[in-house]
Amino acid sequence: MTTAVVVGGGPNGLAAALHLARNGVDVQVLEAADTVGGGARSGELTVPGVIHDYCSAFHPLGVGSPFWSEVGLERYGLTWKWPEIDCAHPLDSGDAGLLYQSIETTAAGLGADGRRWELVFGDLARNFDDLAHDLLRPIVNIPAHPFRLAAFGPRALLPATALARLFRTERGRALYGGIAAHLFARLDRPLTASLGLMIAASGHRYGWPVAEGGSGAITSAAAAAVTDAGGKIETGVRVGSRADIPPADLVLLDLSPAQVLAIYGGQMPARIRRAYQRYRVGSSAFKVDFAIEGDIPWSNPDCVRAGTVHLGGDFDEVRDTEKRRAAGVMVERPFVLLGQQYVADPTRSSGPINPIYAYAHVPRGYDGDATEAITAQIERFAPGFRDRIVATASAGTEQLLSYNPNFAAGDIIGGANDGLQMVLRPRLAVDPYAIGVDGVYICSQSAPPGAGIHGLCGFHAASSALASLGARRA
Ligand SMILES: Cc1cc2nc3c(=O)[nH]c(=O)nc-3n(C[C@H](O)[C@H](O)[C@H](O)COP(=O)(O)OP(=O)(O)OC[C@H]3O[C@@H](n4cnc5c(N)ncnc54)[C@H](O)[C@@H]3O)c2cc1C
Repeated sequence: MTTAVVVGGGPNGLAAALHLARNGVDVQVLEAADTVGGGARSGELTVPGVIHDYCSAFHPLGVGSPFWSEVGLERYGLTWKWPEIDCAHPLDSGDAGLLYQSIETTAAGLGADGRRWELVFGDLARNFDDLAHDLLRPIVNIPAHPFRLAAFGPRALLPATALARLFRTERGRALYGGIAAHLFARLDRPLTASLGLMIAASGHRYGWPVAEGGSGAITSAAAAAVTDAGGKIETGVRVGSRADIPPADLVLLDLSPAQVLAIYGGQMPARIRRAYQRYRVGSSAFKVDFAIEGDIPWSNPDCVRAGTVHLGGDFDEVRDTEKRRAAGVMVERPFVLLGQQYVADPTRSSGPINPIYAYAHVPRGYDGDATEAITAQIERFAPGFRDRIVATASAGTEQLLSYNPNFAAGDIIGGANDGLQMVLRPRLAVDPYAIGVDGVYICSQSAPPGAGIHGLCGFHAASSALASLGARRA
C-alpha cells in the first residue's frame, strides 16, 4: 500500500490527507499544535463561554469550495450560518456601503452606483462556479471556460484604484475598496483589482457565512473525514528536519516556503531552492479579540446586522493607508477588518457578552502594540464602544508565530500578494506543488490558489502527488 506523511494539519494539510486517503493511500498527518486546524481554529480567548475565531472567520471560499462540497463537511458536523448583511463599510458621515448576498439588494442600496455594481459583478457572480474552476488552481493550465476567463481578465488586470473609478458615490467606492483591501497590498498596482472582484462575486454567489460554534468546526469536520477515510492524525509533533518525518512514498508539506527550505533545502535542485529563497513574505496582521456587553453602538445602525465590517474611511483613505503600510509606516488609523460572527451564530456569546473579532493591517514584522489603534478605529465609527469592552486579547507578530510556525513576521496569507507572486506561487512551474525532491510536495496556502479555507491547495497538491505516483509506476 502507498504511504504518505502530511506535515501540518491546517485546512490544506487535512484536504491533502483526505484526498490521498480516499484514493487508497495510507496517510499519517503530523501536526505541531495540540489540535489540528491551523488558520481555522476557535475557542475561548477573553471570558469563559465566549467563543472567538483564532484566525479565519468568514468563508465564501469555504462554502463555495468544490472540494469541501464534494466531501460534504456537513455530514461531519459542520453547519454554515449566514449574517443578514455580509459586509458593511461605514463612513465618517454616518453613511455606509452594504454588501448583501443578493446583488439586487446591494445595488438598490448603492443608489447611483447600483447599476454599475451590477455591471461589474453581476456576470462574475452568475458564472462564479465556472470562473472558480479555472482560477482556484495553478494558472498554468488550459482553461475549461475560456470565454468566462476572457471576460474576467480585463477587469482583473486593472489596479483596484482604476476599477474604483467606475463608481461615482463614496459609498460604492468605499464598499469596493474595503473588499479589495483583503489583498493586503498596495491597491494601485496592476492585478490588484482581481481579488476584490473574486471575493465580492463569491459573496454574491454564496454569501459570507461563518461556521456554527467557530471556524474550528470546519477543520474538525475535515479531520473527522480524514479519520473516516482511514487516515491517522498525530498532534503535538513539530517537524524540524527530515529525521522527524517517518519513511513514506509521499510527503506533503502544509508549510511556508521558509520551513520547506529549512527541512528540504539541502536536497532541492539549486534552481528551485533559489526560487524559494527569493519568495517574499507577506504583510503582517495585528489581531485583537474583544468581549463586549451588548452590541457595538455603530453610528450607522445597519452595521449591527453585518457579519464583517471594514473600517478604513473612504476609498482614498484606504488606498493611502495601504500604500503607506506597504512602505513600512505604522499609520495612526490602520485598515481594520472587524467580525461580528455572533450576529449569524449566537452560540458564540455568553448571555449578554458577545465576541468581537478585529485585525489591522500593519507593516511587515511590526513589533509594536496596535490594540489602541484598533480600538480607536472602532470608536471612530461607533462612539461609546470603549464603554462596552469587558475584556481584550491581543496577538501581534510574535504571538502569531508562536501560534503557527508558518506565520513568520506576522504574515498570515502565506506570502506577499504583490506582482506575479500572487498567481505564480511559490514559483513559476507547470507543477508548482513539486519541490524538486522525489515524492515531496508543498500543499500550503503558499501554493495555488493561495489563502482561504477552501482546501484547494491541499487537494491540487495531493492530485499532483497521486499523478506522479502513477507516472513513476508506469
Ligand atoms: C487573522 C487571520 C484571519 C484570516 N481570515 C480569513 C477568513 O476570514 N477567511 C479565509 O478564508 N481565510 C482567512 N485567513 C487565512 C486562512 O486562515 C489561511 O489561508 C489558511 O489557514 C491556510 O491554510 P493552510 O493549511 O495552508 O495553512 P495553516 O492554516 O497555516 O496550517 C498549517 C498547519 O501546520 C502546522 N505546522 C506548521 N509548521 C509545522 C511544523 N514544522 N511541524 C508540524 N506542523 C506544523 C500549523 O500548526 C498549522 O496547524 C485568515 C488568517 C488569519 C491568520
